[in-house]
Amino acid sequence: GKRINGAVNNALSNTSDDYAVNVDTMLKAIVTALLESDVNIALVSRLRNNIKSKLMAQKPASGSTNAQTKKLIQKTVFDELCNLVDCDVKEPFNPKKKQCNVIMFVGLQGSGKTTSCTKLAVYYQKRGFKVGLVCADTFRAGAFDQLKQNAIKARIPFYGSYTETDPVQVADEGIKKFKKEKFEIIIVDTSGRHRQEEALFQEMIEISHVVKPNQTIMVLDASIGQAAEQQSKAFKDSSDFGAIILTKMDGHAKGGGAISAVAATHTPIIFIGTGEHVHDFEKFSPKSFVSKLLGIGDIESLMEQIQTVSNEEDTKAVMENIQQGKFTLLDFKKQMQTIMKMGPLSNIAQMIPGMSNMMNQVGEDEASSKMKRMIYVLDSMTKEELDSDGRIFIEQPSRMIRVAKGSGTSVFEIEGILMQQRMFASMAQSAKAGGAGAGGMPGAG
Ligand code: GDP
Ligand code: MG
Repeated sequence: GKRINGAVNNALSNTSDDYAVNVDTMLKAIVTALLESDVNIALVSRLRNNIKSKLMAQKPASGSTNAQTKKLIQKTVFDELCNLVDCDVKEPFNPKKKQCNVIMFVGLQGSGKTTSCTKLAVYYQKRGFKVGLVCADTFRAGAFDQLKQNAIKARIPFYGSYTETDPVQVADEGIKKFKKEKFEIIIVDTSGRHRQEEALFQEMIEISHVVKPNQTIMVLDASIGQAAEQQSKAFKDSSDFGAIILTKMDGHAKGGGAISAVAATHTPIIFIGTGEHVHDFEKFSPKSFVSKLLGIGDIESLMEQIQTVSNEEDTKAVMENIQQGKFTLLDFKKQMQTIMKMGPLSNIAQMIPGMSNMMNQVGEDEASSKMKRMIYVLDSMTKEELDSDGRIFIEQPSRMIRVAKGSGTSVFEIEGILMQQRMFASMAQSAKAGGAGAGGMPGAG
């Protein structure tokens, strides 16, 4: 991920006066980086052509700085990638209450179906639906126990059998039972046992005939890489799934392969799995996904997480500021306080510019104590200072000395905080300018 922005930065250090030459140099670097992130070769070449023609059409005015050119290129790359993963579906699946909505899961064994079934069940249950889980995996020993344990933990009613060996039969019974009991969402887990063999697809089709799903979801492991295109096409042909859940986004995989799956099947990704726990589940956001792919800080999903744990008034104020392209030290302080409440820092740190580096260099404990010191610093600031954009400290350096003394820290640490706050502020600026565009995103490279 970092490679892509890094590549642009490196390419820019050898710029020529000729815009077209610069564009070519940078495109070359971007292509290499995208391929290394497992984006499909044909796609990369199409992307390259699109980006190039866009860039040549919006050639910056003569006398533009390298920084402006770089920003233009980054933003174009960002937008094109977002277009690729953002499959606008005219009528996205929207389960209705007081009706029976059946959702069937398909995907290779180990991709994360059983785990994601439960996550989705919890997601809908939280939103007031009456949800049941059916285990139609009779192939793998322990499959029913796994689903059962997940379901009990999450308090979701479930159906399965230890004795029936025909998955079609179990699926049929489960659906009938839950329908009779007026369940609103019935989620059917399947086995995906054979690696794309005929028998798997045959079984899927048979289950699908009795289950008659309103929605079929394919589960895809983010680390699948270049195999994504072929695999998702094969599943699409036999199950015609209408949505994708991308799992294991917490691992090293940046999910470049997922772009190929979306492009090959014209099917949107709806959720991503970010861990083994039932709450490690997020709505898919093209911008966040591409930000991660490109290795840039991810303000949108950060704000989403912050909203779930912080007090509403605070969040509203911060959001309003961000929408206006502002980000004061007080906004920064509120964020730090919220982040401290959010649990494992490492999960969150990767979304914050400048923070992932810190986490890479030091451990969880040290990072957490660093953050506490940051809060002390912010606690020692006056209201005027907190409401400012930080420039006040540059103009009147004696303020830094006062704050350092008051908080028992150092001017060096305060400068660090001011730098991070400025990164946020410039992200807020570019978010305002072009919808969280990559242009000028700091902390990358
Ligand atoms: P299935 O064979 O398709 O049903 O896959 P499972 O749901 O049994 O998952 C296979 C393994 O992947 C299990 O160990 C899960 O805990 C793990 N897993 C599933 N989703 C995620 C995820 O989003 N992140 C991580 N780290 N592990 C996951
Ligand atoms: Mg399973």
